This record gives sequence, structure tokens and C-alpha cells, in this order.
Amino acid sequence: MKKRIAIFGSTGSIGTQALEVIAANPDKFEVEILTAYSNDSLLIQQAKQFNPNAVVVVNENKYNAVKDALAATDTKVFAGEKALEEVAAFDTYDMMLAAIVGFAGLKSTLKAIETGKAIALANKETLVVAGDIVMQKAVEKRVPVIPVDSEHSAIFQCLIGETRNRIEKVVLTASGGPFLGKKPNFLVNVKKEHALQHPNWNMGAKISVDSATLMNKGLEMIEAKWLFNLQPSQIQVIIHPQSVIHSMVQFEDGSIKAQMGLPDMKLPIQYALTFPQRIPSSFPRYDFTRSSSLHFEQPDIKTFRNLALAGEALHRGGNTACVMNAANEIAVYGFLRNRIGFLDMTELVERAMHKIHFIENPTLEEYFESDAEARNFAASLINL
Ligand code: NAD
Ligand code: MG
Repeated sequence: MKKRIAIFGSTGSIGTQALEVIAANPDKFEVEILTAYSNDSLLIQQAKQFNPNAVVVVNENKYNAVKDALAATDTKVFAGEKALEEVAAFDTYDMMLAAIVGFAGLKSTLKAIETGKAIALANKETLVVAGDIVMQKAVEKRVPVIPVDSEHSAIFQCLIGETRNRIEKVVLTASGGPFLGKKPNFLVNVKKEHALQHPNWNMGAKISVDSATLMNKGLEMIEAKWLFNLQPSQIQVIIHPQSVIHSMVQFEDGSIKAQMGLPDMKLPIQYALTFPQRIPSSFPRYDFTRSSSLHFEQPDIKTFRNLALAGEALHRGGNTACVMNAANEIAVYGFLRNRIGFLDMTELVERAMHKIHFIENPTLEEYFESDAEARNFAASLINL
């Protein structure tokens, strides 16, 4: 039986790499649903190649173009934000690859969980915003949430066979991004062209900027908390510029397990799709005879203050991480449009975190409200 996959965010960096994995394993997977925000030409091309049951284009202006192009196929075409949730509720697929970027991925992922689908989770913002509700729902519905994020996939893999053993701590590795070692006097002049040049990974624009500001690692600390049920004191971040060790788990006896490999997202994507099996791949292998050394250092949280802000969100809990995430999405949006500078992004996030009122145990509705409030506040500060 082939596993029927729904890829939410199929036109992105994760989505297109997932389709490469699926194309290489046609005996194992079937594509059931594809969704895109507005890249109609790529969505059409993907639909023609993989013949899904349904596609969604969120931007309604693109509906006719997609509908017309797929008129001769069996693929049903939907448009608009609401359609994401409707299609997520279909009972014709087994697993959702949640690869939409940002808060925009939350509702459809929740709908998939509510309707009993396994989740391969790339969209870390879902857990940053409402991790308690999402994980609680997954437990209730007995659906697995398998991480795609390379660090969390590494931790997940290190934990196999360790269900009865307590985690002393997890060590999230960070490449440090394109500005490792730089100081504020340099960062103040950084432009988006620099920030988008990641040394080890080729990713979507938002996560590339987040990697440059280290907000990505901050989001990942919170993602780890919810995925693995950790206390803040059990989560450590270490800079490892080679990105060969993807993360580690330290157990009570002091033993440390690491998962390693070349930086290639196709590996954690494939693992999430095939778990608990591993299947052969042709991905390039790490070569110990050619590489020199693995290096580790402490993150510079005085310069990359986003890590400290995320630490604050991790400790405070409640709606703090949701607010931080919303302000960060606006900050990155502003930076990518040359409206604010690199260091202003952190400033904006910090101001929103201190402005929006704290809610200790938010309902889902209150998370949405906090998100909207933080977004509006941050946007007002930069005249968006
Ligand atoms: P991307 O920008 O390349 O792609 C995003 C996808 O989401 C696209 O298909 C786009 O059409 C869709 N989308 C964007 N805005 C949307 C909206 N408002 N509503 C519905 N769909 C929308 O992003 P990416 O780099 O593939 O990242 C996707 C997610 O995976 C992010 O949460 C990111 O943090 C996470 N992630 C990515 C990588 C990576 O290597 N790219 C690694 C780890 C985790
Ligand atoms: Mg990651």
C-alpha cells in the first residue's frame, strides 16, 4: 500500500524537496494534495507531474489560471485560505507534510490532526505559536507528529529505543548563519542580499533571515520544548558551523548521542515520510577521509539578542512565544522589503513582547488574538 501524502506548501523549499523524495520512490508514495500560496505555474507543473486528487491555490486571483490549466485532468482545484482547512479535513490521505511557512500553517495543520492524519512537521511556527494545544490535540487523536526540522529530526532519531530513559538535556546545533562572528557595527549595515546567503543550507527567504538573526534557533528551542516535552533548562544551543552534527541528546548517565550527515533537508524529509523505516537514498554521503574537523563554540547572545528573547519566551510561556513569532514575521517581512535594518528586527520583536499583554493559559482563540495584536503593533511601528 502506498502512503498517501498531502504537501501543504508544495512550491517552497521543503515542498519541492519532498516531491523529489517522492519522485524517487514512486512505489512507496502517492501525492494526494498539493497547496501553494500564489506560485500558479509551479503548482500546475507539480499537479501535472504527480496527479493529485486536489490542489489549493490560496491567492484567489490565481484560481482561473490553475483551473484552466488542469481542466483536462482529474485534479480538483480550490482557492482561498479557507480551502486549506477544508482540504486538510479530506479523508483521502494518510500524512500531511506541513511545509507552509509561518503562522499561516497553523489552522490547516490543526485540522489535519483533528481529522486523524499523521503529521510530518516542517512548519515550526505552528508549535511556537500554540505548541501546547497542537501537541495536546495530537495526543488526544493519537496521531504522530514527526519532526522534519533537521535538529529535531536528529533528536527524534537519537531517542529511538530510549523511551524509558530520561533526557538530561538536548543540544541544538546552529550553524551560526552567514554572520557568525560579526558584531553590531557590521550588522547594522547588512542588507537582505547578504542575509539570504546561508553558508550551508538553501532555504526559503523567511527561514534564511531567521537563520541570519538566530531567531531560527530561538524558534527551534521552543519547537523542541513541545516536541520532546522538555523544561527550558534541558535545552542548550551550541554553534557548530559545519552543520554535520544535526543535534544531540545527553542522557542521565552522561552519554551523548548525535545524529550526523551532510546538510541536506531531503534526508530528514524522507525519514519523516518513511518512519519508522529507513529506505535507501542516493543523497551524497559524509566523507571522513576528506573533512578536517568539527568545531563548536558558544553563541554570542549579546550580539544575536533574538536568542535571549526566545529564551525569555521559553521561560515565561503563555502567549509570549506567539507574540514573539508574530512580531518576528512582520520584522522579517519589513527587512525583506528594505523597510527596516537588520538590527531593527530584534528591536521590533522585543518591543512587541513587552507591549502585548501576557496571557498565562491562552485558548486557541486567544492565541489568534495575540498574534493579530502583535502583528498590528509591529506593523504600526514600521508604517507597514
Ligand atoms: P518557502 O518560503 O520556500 O515555502 C513556503 C511555502 O508555503 C510555499 O509553498 C508557499 O506557497 C506557501 N505559503 C507561503 N505563505 C503562505 C500563506 N500565507 N498561506 C498558505 N501558504 C503559504 O519556505 P520553506 O523554506 O520551504 O519553509 C517552510 C517551513 O519549513 C517553515 O516553517 C520553515 O521554518 C520550515 N523549515 C524549512 C527548512 C528549509 O530548509 N527550507 C528547514 C527546516 C524547517
Ligand atoms: Mg532547523
